Amino acid sequence: MTDEETLDPGNWQELRDLGHRMVDDMLVYLETLRDRPVWQPMPEEVQARLDQPLPRKGQGAESAYQDFQDLVLPYPFGNIHPRHWGWVNGTGTPLGMLAEMLAAGMNPNTGGFNQAASAVESQVLGWCKQMLGYPADASGLLLSGGSMANLVGLTVARNVKAQVDVRRSGVGELPNAMTLYCSDETHSSVQKAVELLGLGSQHLRQLPADSDYRIELAALDEAIARDRSAGYHPICVIGNAGTVNTGAIDPLDGLATLCERENMWLHIDGAFGALAALSAELRPALKGMERADSVAFDLHKWMYMPYEVGCILVRKEADHRKSFALTPAYLTKTKGSIADSPWMADYGIQLSRGFRALKVWMSIKEHGIEKYARLIEQNVAQAHYLAELVEAHQDLELLAPTPLNIVCFRFAAEALDGTGLDALNSSILVHLQQSGIAVPSSTVVNGRFAIRVSITNHRTRREDLDLLVDAVVSEGRRRLTAA
Ligand SMILES: *Cc1c(COP(=O)(O)O)cnc(C)c1O
Repeated sequence: MTDEETLDPGNWQELRDLGHRMVDDMLVYLETLRDRPVWQPMPEEVQARLDQPLPRKGQGAESAYQDFQDLVLPYPFGNIHPRHWGWVNGTGTPLGMLAEMLAAGMNPNTGGFNQAASAVESQVLGWCKQMLGYPADASGLLLSGGSMANLVGLTVARNVKAQVDVRRSGVGELPNAMTLYCSDETHSSVQKAVELLGLGSQHLRQLPADSDYRIELAALDEAIARDRSAGYHPICVIGNAGTVNTGAIDPLDGLATLCERENMWLHIDGAFGALAALSAELRPALKGMERADSVAFDLHKWMYMPYEVGCILVRKEADHRKSFALTPAYLTKTKGSIADSPWMADYGIQLSRGFRALKVWMSIKEHGIEKYARLIEQNVAQAHYLAELVEAHQDLELLAPTPLNIVCFRFAAEALDGTGLDALNSSILVHLQQSGIAVPSSTVVNGRFAIRVSITNHRTRREDLDLLVDAVVSEGRRRLTAA
């Protein structure tokens, strides 16, 4: 016996039994998802029980798990449910959940060289390049999601295109202010990245998109020329492979040609849409993506992996490494030691990092990439099915084209003007969400409030969309008559 303490269990058999129960409980929970509402409000009494002072003494694993069952599990955000189509959320998978447990059990720190864990991550990055048709010798990194992927990609863009050593001098010593270009349908994480990089959001030119919500090449050309003659330094275009509002895909091949001609960096935000490249049917719409200097995308959205996992690919490995590598004495790689290999920390912001590659590796092995391609096609077909239901219904109006998996529509009643319709649709949406029937989200397209359904959900069936349409129509009519 020793009087030294540890966090390992005193009784391994007890924890083993509890662990088996946890696995069983969660698998039953996932198997029966469809029987529960998408969402339910957390009662005040539960909120009050969550608000506790810092525990000074332990309550034990069993009792902590009971608290999870009572206070946490019944009140999810709902994104794993078959009828959650809000924002762009992923669903995760049962095996993905188990892989997360295995990764946490091994608990490697993959910032440095980590033997098998590093090999698995390189393998996953290799597969990601194949999935997108990106060059095999490109560089890459798994990170927390699209926002971080955009930040890392744009960091490399800034550093490569700066006329000074911007890592050393800072942006204050740039001879000319750098400008970047995208459509006004671009995700806010791009602006955040530009702000974090010290480039200033005023220098991100968010050009008005066309009627299909795509960037206009001629207007982009003009904006760049105008900025050049005004003394700015245009460095980068951000192209969208699937915008968050409507799923629009910018003319990527045209952007690649323009960037080559203008000596500018092409970064693509393909958070979910880049994965459409898995489908032979959808791939042509993404032509040009393979020519980009960097591509950011998520695996926790349209690859249905558990949160978090996103990916950045950078065409030239040296560009990528030069933006992040920094080796102080305490991180020096000694020859011949276990640390003598490429370090992932040299390609991104994090030093310590987890084993998010494992769930990707195991899931792709479990299902094979062809199944993911079919599921993506299924989601797109479901979006088209919903768009057809909307168009066929006299009380509903489609508000934007449906090039991928996103449908923007509204309940439309002749008796109401624009403001009235916005308010009515907003209250229909709140009703859908709060009653737990379905969780779409909203956006504004062309100045009109839209109920927005974004399907990155492997559990959705067409009957779920029938149910949504019925619920929107009956709630819309009920509110009209009540008014
Ligand atoms: C979700 C999304 C992002 C941000 O990705 P996160 O994984 O949420 O950080 C960026 N761009 C687009 C188009 C997105 O849909």
